[in-house]
Amino acid sequence: MKQDKKETALVAGGAGFIGSHLCRALLRQGFDVICLDNLLTARRSNLLALEAERGFSFVRGDVVDPLPAVITERGADITRIYNLACAASPPLYQADPEHTMLTNVVGTDRLLRLAERAGARFLLSSTSEVYGDPERHPQSEEYRGSVSCTGPRACYDEGKRAAEAMTFDFARSGRAEVRVARIFNTYGPHMNPDDGRVVSNLVCQALLGLPVTIYGDGSQTRSFCYVEDMVKALMLLMESDIAGDEPVNLGNPEERTIAELLDAIRAQVDREIEVEHRPLPVDDPTRRRPDIGRARALLGWAPETGLAEGLARTVDWFARELARNAPGVTK
Ligand code: UDP
Repeated sequence: MKQDKKETALVAGGAGFIGSHLCRALLRQGFDVICLDNLLTARRSNLLALEAERGFSFVRGDVVDPLPAVITERGADITRIYNLACAASPPLYQADPEHTMLTNVVGTDRLLRLAERAGARFLLSSTSEVYGDPERHPQSEEYRGSVSCTGPRACYDEGKRAAEAMTFDFARSGRAEVRVARIFNTYGPHMNPDDGRVVSNLVCQALLGLPVTIYGDGSQTRSFCYVEDMVKALMLLMESDIAGDEPVNLGNPEERTIAELLDAIRAQVDREIEVEHRPLPVDDPTRRRPDIGRARALLGWAPETGLAEGLARTVDWFARELARNAPGVTK
């Protein structure tokens, strides 16, 4: 993926967990990078190492609002647009559901229109949540999902489904070249300690000596992908020559119960861990595992980082992060 000519990538949501790793990887690959972020759930500290680098610029803005002139004026300089803008943790995206829906619908529309004007390729970060609480297992891209359009997760999963619909309409009508990634649970350094998701909660609680919160009996499953594997896949998908008329699942197909995840964290944290059971959130999916056959075939990609190795790096990062900041764990 070496470039002959300097190109510019816009990363909406670039200060977030996955976005900040993506910005770094794009810089390493020779792109100039514009990071657009409203810093609502992301943290500028994720960009500390990047802000001094030539070729990197940060623009504070919300994709629900008209895009800042500093971006629209760059016009055809921008050849790649990654849309990662949206809170992704259930408690955070449910905190302002209207804004979550608008971020996905209005934000995606604004970025697609920019892609159309600039002639840039557009990648939507969609989600495994488009499958809802799946009746089919593992989930392949053909499966149309089991989603509640009236429940508390709808602002996010229906928002992403609408964003996918709009993205494919732009492609069908020849307005933009697109790629759609359906991202499954991802973890690693740069997660917000207050994010409220299972890996950040359990790791931070364990490190702080607090009881770890397990929702329900812990028998529900997820499949956890290390962030560097995910970023590699996103860039491969963006740069691949596949016709972008199909979504591609990206995630780690190794499925674990939440109780097994806790055991894996216990193995990394050298202290007694007390468990506090809490009620299962409404519409919490029972099982989730990606079928990544399409990503393997089209991109030659599969995750390389096992859970123990990824968790070791994550625990190490959180330990340093918690030592730097006064701690706080939500939910
Ligand atoms: N979960 C948990 N304890 C927590 C946070 C989450 O047991 O402190 C559970 C949650 O109910 C879900 C799974 O872990 O079944 C993954 O939750 P997360 O919010 O990380 O992501 P989701 O896949 O639900 O979007």
